[in-house]
Order: sequence, then structure tokens, then C-alpha cells
Amino acid sequence: MSAASEVQFLRNIQRLLDEGDFVATYKFALLQALADVSVEGAPDSGGELVVPLDRIAEKFIGYYWPQVVPFRPFNGSDGILQQNTGQQASILRELVQLRLAFGGKLQLARQNGRLWQQTVRKVSSVVREMPLWKLQVVAGKPEEFLYRQADFKDGAIILLPGVASHFRSFHGLVLRLVRGRWLERERTVKSNQPIIGAEADLEGFLFGTGRKALDGFREVLREVDGLNCFYCDRRMNGVPEVDRFISRSRYPIDLGHNFVLAHPQCNNQKRDFLADLRHLQRWGHRNRHAGMALADKARQAKRHQSYAI
Ligand SMILES: [Zn+2]
Repeated sequence: MSAASEVQFLRNIQRLLDEGDFVATYKFALLQALADVSVEGAPDSGGELVVPLDRIAEKFIGYYWPQVVPFRPFNGSDGILQQNTGQQASILRELVQLRLAFGGKLQLARQNGRLWQQTVRKVSSVVREMPLWKLQVVAGKPEEFLYRQADFKDGAIILLPGVASHFRSFHGLVLRLVRGRWLERERTVKSNQPIIGAEADLEGFLFGTGRKALDGFREVLREVDGLNCFYCDRRMNGVPEVDRFISRSRYPIDLGHNFVLAHPQCNNQKRDFLADLRHLQRWGHRNRHAGMALADKARQAKRHQSYAI
């Protein structure tokens, strides 16, 4: 698969997340489901992958299952986060019932053929009515780069040639982008705000937002990445800038992987994180090789910091 088509794919995903009209969180779940089934199943020789809607529905149940318990006890509310701006999303209402019936155990629910199938069918039909045709509408126009609505038949969609393989190559990145947006979405639903509260750390974000916290991470990055600028690969003599490789709004959950050291001027020149494939590849390479060490050191630095206060 050519590098150009990989970049185009990621750009399309990004546009979809940035500009698509996401009223409920279903579209995030659908994107995640497509990424996950692409990893689990092999595309055919033409690069297409047939994905039954029931399979997507089972994924939805898995994703939303832990989300239908209360985020925390809260006055005058069930404490469950809303997944929709109006009424609670209907899939979640279904799952509340299923959870009650099986004491919260997903495994037990799966084993009960009749009730499970019933729920899968209901969820399937919601997926078909809502996110399936809305997902690829960007700024009011259809952009069918994942699957064609017209190809839907026998209860299955067909991922277009190359799509499954792109999802496989960028599974981790796509998931982080999707989950980041999903969290932001829940945060903006008004009725969720008092439940989440000002102090609750919904995403477990490690570094806070202050410049000072980022400064504390500079030494960790020096140890892991060395003394050269991430973007131009030239030596940094002055105080390097700690940069978020992908902006926080797009990638709010991370364990340090998203931070790089750069010359202040290189940092300023960088526009879109997808503008340059080399940077994206280098970033992926670094995280595959040093991601764990980075997360460990970040955790230690964080611990150290909180003792010091
Ligand atoms: Zn530089």
C-alpha cells in the first residue's frame, strides 16, 4: 500500500472526526468497531473485507457495557454519563436492562442465547438506522471512503479495497484519535458536567495542562530520545520545547507518547501532524521502540512531582 494512500486514509479519518456531525457517540463506536474487526479478520485477495452488521453490534455492546454503570454517585441522577445531547442513547438503555439481568457480567449475557441475540438484533438495527449512513457524511456531503452505502446487502457492509489493511497498519493511532474525540464529546454534554465535576480526572491525563508539568517531562524525553530535534534531527543547544505531536484536543489520552522535544522554531513551523509522513513514521517508530520506557519514566516523574509538592 503506498505511503500516499496511507496519508490520504488518515486525513480522511481525521476530517471525519473533526468535521462530521456527531450528535450521539455512536459514530465513534462504529469507527472503533471497523478498526477492530479489520485487525481480527483478514481481507480477501482484492483487499475488501465483508463485515456483518451483527458483528459490529456485538462490538458496540462490548464498548458500551462498562459505560452504563454510574460514573460516580450523584444527587438526583443515575450518575450514568449521557451519550447523546437529548435523551440517553437507545443502545445504552438496552444495555442497562441486560446488565441488570446478568448482574453486570458480559460473559454470562453472551452465554444466554435468546436474550443476547435479541439485544444484538436491536443494536444492529440502531446501527443501521443511525451511524451507518451518517458516519461518512462530512459537511453535508457523502464521502464514502470506507464502504459504500449502496453495497449494503445480506446484513453486511463491505470495506473498500485497502481500508482493512490501513486500519490494521494504524490501529493504535486510529483508536487513540477516536477515543480522544469520544471523551471530548461526553465532556461537552451539559448534563454530564456536574457528574464529571471540575476535579474528576476523566481521562486520567497524566500531565495536566500547565507549562510547568511539561517542563518536568523534558528530562525524561532527553533520556529517551536524545539531544536532537524531533523534526529536523539537528542538535538542540538552547532549551528545547516540549511539543505535543498531535494537538491535545485530538489526542487527550496518552502516557507520554505524544510528547517530543524540538527547536522552538521547528515546533512553530509544524502545521498539521499529517503534513509530513516522515514525522508520522518516525513518531510511530519511536513509540514502538521506546513507548513503554517512556510511559514508565513518565509515571515515575509524575510520582516524584507529587511527592515534592
Ligand atoms: Zn529542529
